[in-house]
Amino acid sequence: MSEIEIFYNELPNEECGVFGVINVKNASEVMYYGLHSLQHRGQEGCGIISSNTEAFYKIRGEGLVTEVFNEQNLKNLEGNMAIGHVRYSTSGGGGIENVQPFLFRHHTGDFALCHNGNLVNSKELKHQLENQGSIFQSTSDTEIFAHLIKKDKQTNRLEAIKSALNKIEGAFAFLAMSQDKLYIMRDKNSLRPLSLGKLNGGYVVSSETCAFEVIGATFVRDINPGEILIIDQDGNFKSDYYAKKTYKNMCAMEYIYFSRPDSDIEGTNVHSSRKEAGRILAKEAPVDCDIIIGVPDSSISAAVGFSEELNIPNEMGLIKNKYVGRTFIAPSQHLREKGVKMKLSPIRSIVENKRICLVDDSIVRGTTSKKIIKMLKDAGALEVHMRIASPPITHPCFYGVDTSTYEELISSRHTVDEVREIIGADSLAFISKEGILKAVNRDKMCLSCFSGKYPTYIYQNLEEANKDGKF
Ligand code: AMP
Ligand code: SF4
Repeated sequence: MSEIEIFYNELPNEECGVFGVINVKNASEVMYYGLHSLQHRGQEGCGIISSNTEAFYKIRGEGLVTEVFNEQNLKNLEGNMAIGHVRYSTSGGGGIENVQPFLFRHHTGDFALCHNGNLVNSKELKHQLENQGSIFQSTSDTEIFAHLIKKDKQTNRLEAIKSALNKIEGAFAFLAMSQDKLYIMRDKNSLRPLSLGKLNGGYVVSSETCAFEVIGATFVRDINPGEILIIDQDGNFKSDYYAKKTYKNMCAMEYIYFSRPDSDIEGTNVHSSRKEAGRILAKEAPVDCDIIIGVPDSSISAAVGFSEELNIPNEMGLIKNKYVGRTFIAPSQHLREKGVKMKLSPIRSIVENKRICLVDDSIVRGTTSKKIIKMLKDAGALEVHMRIASPPITHPCFYGVDTSTYEELISSRHTVDEVREIIGADSLAFISKEGILKAVNRDKMCLSCFSGKYPTYIYQNLEEANKDGKF
């Protein structure tokens, strides 16, 4: 590789990850490893709040888990219970004031709170609460939920939480911690994953099961749609539901792109589902080519399935520079124009004079595909056919994935053939909606960004997503 191939990071945002620990000695130490294994879900900021039943201890910061925490400051997070969060700003924007968990002080009892997902009615609720006198410190949905709990006049805490949960709409996995109890809550549509594990007589809860393997915990079960699970310091369990009607609408993009390949989401391993999607895609849209190349890292599994199905070699034709972190200095416009890219480089000797099928998990804006195809052709590829292991993303997501306007979605404004032309591929095909359901072995999940049929009411969000009024 003669040239430094650097890709300027213009990808859309990911979402967040939550982790909780109860009845485990030095909870914050376990938390550190748990959060570290959820780092792929958010790199903007992270935080931990622990409790030793007498007081709360809090550390939050901008940056990666390894940048915010060290052996010394973890020791200050006392107690055998903790909640933690890795953040990508899906709602509310950046800045330390939006880094979770939040600690709320109240005469009826202090509590810590963090969440993954996005509320679709947050604007309405915030407006109502402000009219009733609430003052907000951050722009995060989490604070809205805290105000709703404390505004409720019910004396019973669980009833107040249930009533607050019934007022919010959208995708969420909430963790709340009083000085001696952990409250675990999942939205009634079960859009975001949340699983329970057992560790040394205590419990852990995580956005993804990959964290359990890392810390030596055993998987117990997924938190059910609409469930509120309460675990106390004596190991007592109480399971309740805030909604009578619940639905299995897991986000398809968790399987397709967000989650780590070693996580199991509602019983299906992510790597296996991606590999199966690759197989199905190969059956739906086969390609006559010399080699298959998966775009690293999230498309490697799909490329394996695609290659096995067609019996065509799967090659490592693209190398990813793993050291392009949050603090990497993005190349200036001047350097970008000169072709200095970041993140991915082709291996010329592999791609030269080859007919290539490039497999990627998704096309959002189309910028990545366009750049990679050009890069492969510049490196001597004869043909580049593109196969995508998700259906075309035609609609915005309002549930915590930052693809929020029609304008930024190439497939919302162009046909498949127009997209092919724009990205410069010799051919282009996407897996069908039926194909992706089959790959994850489910008959139902959220496919809204491919269909525009949303599982919840979405309030004024649709109008905002359609800024230029074309849809
Ligand atoms: P784009 O250049 O906008 O078409 O981005 C497509 C690439 O972004 C694919 O290679 C995906 O792996 C990746 N991707 C898909 N969804 C997301 C997301 N929500 N956040 C970050 N990256 C994503
Ligand atoms: Fe996931 Fe798409 Fe549904 Fe958003 S709209 S929750 S990204 S499947």
